Amino acid sequence: MSIKNTTLIWFRNDLRIHDNQALFASLEFSNCVAIYIFNENDFIYDQDGFKKIGVFRYNFIIETLEDLKLKLSKLNVPLIILKGNTIELLKQKIIELNVSQLYFNASPGTQEMDLEALLTTFCASNKISFKMYQTNTLIHIEDLNFTPQNFPKIFTQFRKIVESKLYIRQEFPIPQKTNSTFFFNSFRDVNQPQKIVVQKINTEIDIKGGETNALNRLDYYLWKSNKINTYKETRNELIGMDYSTKFSAWLAIGAISPRRIFWEIEKYEKKINKNESTYWVIFELLWRDYFNLSMILFPKAYFRFKQNESSFLDEKQKNNFLNWKFGKTGSPFVDANMKELLNTGFMSNRGRQNVASYLINDLKLNWQLGAKHFEEYLVDYDCASNYGNWSYLAGKGNDPRSNRYFNIEKQKQTYDPQNKYINLWNK
Ligand code: FAD
Repeated sequence: MSIKNTTLIWFRNDLRIHDNQALFASLEFSNCVAIYIFNENDFIYDQDGFKKIGVFRYNFIIETLEDLKLKLSKLNVPLIILKGNTIELLKQKIIELNVSQLYFNASPGTQEMDLEALLTTFCASNKISFKMYQTNTLIHIEDLNFTPQNFPKIFTQFRKIVESKLYIRQEFPIPQKTNSTFFFNSFRDVNQPQKIVVQKINTEIDIKGGETNALNRLDYYLWKSNKINTYKETRNELIGMDYSTKFSAWLAIGAISPRRIFWEIEKYEKKINKNESTYWVIFELLWRDYFNLSMILFPKAYFRFKQNESSFLDEKQKNNFLNWKFGKTGSPFVDANMKELLNTGFMSNRGRQNVASYLINDLKLNWQLGAKHFEEYLVDYDCASNYGNWSYLAGKGNDPRSNRYFNIEKQKQTYDPQNKYINLWNK
């Protein structure tokens, strides 16, 4: 197809139509086409046996794309979904579709930023105008009340400074439908990737992709169930959907905007109740911002380690790692958590802290092995939150301390005194 003046919207970790600056800005043009690309390298195992995207996240993204495609179709925007070399496919589509404008939202991470740089150069040399927006955090990066040089090294300092003058921008409205029905219709029969069938042995956790499901979850957690009222007391529990918000997977892929969550909580606090629990969800979103903003500002700091540093030193290390991965360490609490991850793609925050401490402090393995395993299996994998939390626990992050040790037996006694959780998974 060669229609003049096409606008291409490159979707990444922003798979929604609400509060999406790139989508909102691009729909001022009439012939808009959206594209999402699965990077083929993310499906290839590396030398240590890890790949970047496992079945849980893959299926979650497919579900999210199905929902997005439907919503975009109502705006007359076709969505093309491809798998391959991201930069090459983007260049190819830009030429094939006669693209004159390219719009996208930035995504934290070194590889993501490298892609953005390559694309910027390509657009500049081909006279294609492009716009990139920063939208994945609660606090807009330009609204931080300190300079990048003064970025606090410790979360508590960061939180206190930003809370002293908390400013959260309003959401972008859902854009109006374009009038290019003809353009839209010419994209009708594009092939769609299918989900991979997985057999779940436990249905305690069931998080389905899509903006619609994300917004329903928000509605449920606040208005329908009032669970937010008791979040601070329940957030360290281990079983079921409702002890915590479960917003993470939708936030990670951008099916929900953190600003939508913020403003909805603010409404809830005005209409129903404001307490420590309602505040604590915002507090946790600030942890997410802390890791994401520091990754945007200092991307290389997260990946300072040597290329081969994550490889196993010997067979014993490899066996220890595999026992950890498959829930066969002999520590019932660690094993239960690892089996939950293997079978559902999810693990509670309490569980994540314990299994990470076990890998780092008890098995004395390199934290990056754990981070890579999480990257492959977590349905809510988010580059900054994952590598940020792992390096923090390993004492290698922004706040370097080496004594973040979790006494696993004590933790089990406190959080699973009746063995309900360990019996659920260690059958
Ligand atoms: P809730 O307790 O309901 O919290 C609300 C939201 O706040 C979450 O959805 C999340 O967006 C944010 N949040 C909460 N705690 C943290 C935190 N410690 N760091 C950053 N954001 C936080 N979270 C991810 O989203 N992706 C990851 O890849 C990831 N990897 C982790 C790895 C380790 C080793 C650890 C210890 C934590 C990791 N976390 C990660 C943070 C946290 O465990 C999850 O966000 C949380 O368990 C998701 O469940 P929830 O949505 O019900 O969280």
